[in-house]
Amino acid sequence: MRQSWNEQFAETPDVLKSARREQTVAPVLDFEIGGDEFITMAGPCSVETEFQLMATANRVRRAGARILRGGAFKPRSSPYAFQGLGLEGLKLLARAREESGLAIVTEVMSESDVPMVAEYADILQIGSRSMENYSLLEEAARSGRPILLKRGMMATVADLLRSAQLILDNGNPNVILCERGIRTFETAMRNTFDVAAIALLKQISHLPVIADPSHAAGHRDLVPALARIAVAAGADGLLVEVHPNPDKAWSDGEQSLDFDGFDDMMASLDPYLALREAARLRPMEAVG
Ligand code: PEP
Ligand code: MN
Repeated sequence: MRQSWNEQFAETPDVLKSARREQTVAPVLDFEIGGDEFITMAGPCSVETEFQLMATANRVRRAGARILRGGAFKPRSSPYAFQGLGLEGLKLLARAREESGLAIVTEVMSESDVPMVAEYADILQIGSRSMENYSLLEEAARSGRPILLKRGMMATVADLLRSAQLILDNGNPNVILCERGIRTFETAMRNTFDVAAIALLKQISHLPVIADPSHAAGHRDLVPALARIAVAAGADGLLVEVHPNPDKAWSDGEQSLDFDGFDDMMASLDPYLALREAARLRPMEAVG
């Protein structure tokens, strides 16, 4: 007989749905992630300039985003590529929060930077390349900030859940899982968007699930379709890269939407969001 999901993921019991565990809703400013509201996080890959960040913050807020993303510390594939503005970038993010009212999510790459990043950010992002850096996860957990945990590009669902469990073990219940595409034999796109993982995670875990169609696709023209697929699969929200002038972006320009592209993508989600709301009227099932 087939194992139940609880048996299959027995190593990470606290991330699984059960009669004892309600859906996790992570509080951020005056709203929640994982609740009824669909949450969009949007912004540039990297914080570059004050103009770039403020203009993006204002436009994505108008289109319905709740959270501004932007990297101040960038884990680049090449050590010779732009590595981020560091503290200056964090300060720009804090200013953008003040001006726009958006919450801030930004990546923390090193254990020693956790207190500084936690001072400026509402949510700490653990990047794909850091998903299995357990000492970083422990330190980030102890900051008390909600953690956006991105799936490693070579990580299985079980690996992702192990990292989530570790954060819970360190006293932080507010883990937000993020599917951002994995490496497979397919090379036409930057990564393979594992939409099945979104459906599975929603089925087995009480943690919120965010989809990142930008890093999955690697090409901006595919981002809206992957975003719609993610909503249909039950995601609690999106993480999308947006830039005022994507062709001039200092990182990930090919996959960044411009402002009009972001408006169009957001408008195209409406019918999918309506279906999602209908599906959420059903009570949450515990996994057998
Ligand atoms: C990012 O969000 O810009 C990023 C570097 O993502 P990932 O860790 O998924 O590659
Ligand atoms: Mn990026």
